Amino acid sequence: MSIVTANTDSQPAQYRIAARELCEFTAKHGDLDLRFTPAPSALEGIAGHASVAARRGDDYQKELPLRGRYGALEVRGRADGYYPARQELEEVKTYRGRLERLPENQRALHWAQLKVYGWLLCQALALPELRLTLVYFNVDSEQETLFSERHDAEGLRTFFETQCAHFLHWSASELAHRERRDPALAAAAFPHPQFHAGQRQLAEAVYRMAARGGALLAQAPTGIGKSIGSLYPALKALARGEVEKVFFLTAKTSGRRLALDAAASLVGTATTGAIPLRVLELVAREKSCEHPDKACHGESCPLARGFYDRLPAARAAAVQRSRLDQAGLRAVALEHQVCPYYLGQELVRWSDVVVGDYNYYFDGSALLYGLAQLNDWKLAVLVDEAHNLVERARGMYSAELDPMQLAALRRVAPAELRKPLEKVRRAWSRLHRDQTEAYVAHAQLPDSLCRALQEAVSAIARHYAEEPPANDSPLQAWWFEAAQFLRLAESFAPAHSLFEIVLEEASQPRQPGRSRLAIRNLVPAPFLAPRAARTHALVLFSATLKPPHYYRDLLGLPAGTQWLDVPSPFRAEQLRVTVARDISTRYQHRQRSLPALLARMAGQYRKQPGNYLAYFSSFDYLQQALAAFAARYPEIPLWSQQRGMREPEREAFLQRFVAGGEGIGFAVLGGVFGEGIDLPGERLIGAFIASLGLPQINPLNEELRRRLDAQFGAGYDYAYLYPGLQKVVQAAGRVIRGAQDHGVLHLLDDRYAQAEVQALLPRWWQIE
Ligand code: SF4
Repeated sequence: MSIVTANTDSQPAQYRIAARELCEFTAKHGDLDLRFTPAPSALEGIAGHASVAARRGDDYQKELPLRGRYGALEVRGRADGYYPARQELEEVKTYRGRLERLPENQRALHWAQLKVYGWLLCQALALPELRLTLVYFNVDSEQETLFSERHDAEGLRTFFETQCAHFLHWSASELAHRERRDPALAAAAFPHPQFHAGQRQLAEAVYRMAARGGALLAQAPTGIGKSIGSLYPALKALARGEVEKVFFLTAKTSGRRLALDAAASLVGTATTGAIPLRVLELVAREKSCEHPDKACHGESCPLARGFYDRLPAARAAAVQRSRLDQAGLRAVALEHQVCPYYLGQELVRWSDVVVGDYNYYFDGSALLYGLAQLNDWKLAVLVDEAHNLVERARGMYSAELDPMQLAALRRVAPAELRKPLEKVRRAWSRLHRDQTEAYVAHAQLPDSLCRALQEAVSAIARHYAEEPPANDSPLQAWWFEAAQFLRLAESFAPAHSLFEIVLEEASQPRQPGRSRLAIRNLVPAPFLAPRAARTHALVLFSATLKPPHYYRDLLGLPAGTQWLDVPSPFRAEQLRVTVARDISTRYQHRQRSLPALLARMAGQYRKQPGNYLAYFSSFDYLQQALAAFAARYPEIPLWSQQRGMREPEREAFLQRFVAGGEGIGFAVLGGVFGEGIDLPGERLIGAFIASLGLPQINPLNEELRRRLDAQFGAGYDYAYLYPGLQKVVQAAGRVIRGAQDHGVLHLLDDRYAQAEVQALLPRWWQIE
């Protein structure tokens, strides 16, 4: 059933907003309060709504779409249920714990939303009055607490119009912003004297996708300027109203910086003054928090106290700036004494371009995706260095349970939690009691463990409802992990995930060992596919996206996803590529082949001294090679990547590569120096790549191979070959960074001579 108010305005709406968003804007006051509220999961929320609806009679109308106008503003929403006979409108909110702990400003918001729905319904059905009922449903006890009020239509109309009038003031300035922004963007020239070779092709494809909608996988070589090459056309589409916002998603901080600089270069090209383009950078909480020792509520943190009272002024000041990167956002936030992290989240709604990590759009509770759905935004989503998304998404939909954490917790847990935690321990121990192999993967989750975890999680939630946790307590940390495990358990299926038990060594003789448990995602496609399908234009680009079917299958891209392979601007004569046909780096041959491999490296270095990078498939292999090389060729300067290097140490590693310098830097394929570093000209004149970068053969990867074989008929390729070669091509891409660069690449393994391997290497290489 759809109820739409009579449209008394002959003009089309210029501004649309969801009722919930309208109320968030106009009716929220007081403190930011993220004190632990044991919130139900999304599935529990859906189940709670369904339980309430099932208890209502046949005449109860569920999920009532409502829409209405106030001047140029259109307000939309979906009320939970309506009894026509009783003229009663209900809004259901699920919760956990004690209802009295729900912050007052949260309740006020719920009432505001219900009153807005109330007026939209009164207007649509010409009702003189209406009963409004807020239903709070406790997901643990399944009890309902009802609060009802009778309102006349006139009072509801006044309330609705007051909210709209308050918002209209803001929306008028938003419309004025768009009126200034769009012609300026439409007139903006490309911010460089000309497109690089291939860059125009990428830009045209991105524009077509943004205008028409759909998904695009674009492989485009490093160095052609993919950030501006994709952002520029997306902003042209924004100027023409073909998309409403642009999200630029990155895997790393360096990618965020490039995107921000690309946007800044475009703003600077305006001939009639700066383009009023609002560019927002989202930064993780731990990097933007001003009071890491405090908790996010008004009694603890001064920047949370009165947050919503000061938010309007902070918001108004923030939208005057075009670059709201971490520093810009912090400056506004501190000037207005609000939290920079949560101010950033508020500003997503009012930004034209949002630059942030993948997880803001792709993980299970992604902020950007959630807001896009709530507001029905027509988006262009640009995914930078998209070859990283497979592994990153697997991580987003995996969860681990650490036995040490549970053991430590049981010693310090409050008395009423000891029993449920003990039940978890017993269920856990039964799982591995008879296990003899170190690693076992299961296609199903154990019911007994899930039940025990659910009981423990609910008991902790009830405990916290009485006594909110101290900041960062071990109990709270474990609670979050167990809750994440249970959330993934709700959607567990053998088609995309497995449940693994990894035995740990017994700490003492005669003591049973412990096990580490995990839900391990193998195929993120089922989680990502609905997001891809609901995104107007999704563009994934990288220098290495071959073969496209691998990414389509694992990322759940729609069947009509387009493929673009932008030719490289580099010439074959710029890079001499040789294959060591006499060297095998297969695990069982490594020891034997090491002297020949090192002799190749030393031979190249002596022939042409300069800076080189040597890549190995693991730290162990790297260390063996490094020690042997240093012993045999002490005259050649060496430096090496270490495990867990911090930013200054990484910087020091890269600074060894000076123009005119000499030596070999040892690094790990797929590691921090395997992509995203720029050493142009003489800073790097060649690379050695030992092995095909294939992931290690271990029980998990073997299980992955079997599953991918069953699902896609290409287990070895999907589990080993494609991920390995992708790392090789990324690493090799460090050598040639511009049209003037020349260098050498030594592929140190006989398998590089195979046709199926060469088919995955860049077409412009001429292999000797
Ligand atoms: S400054 Fe830190 S502690 Fe305070 S509200 Fe922000 S994130 Fe929370």
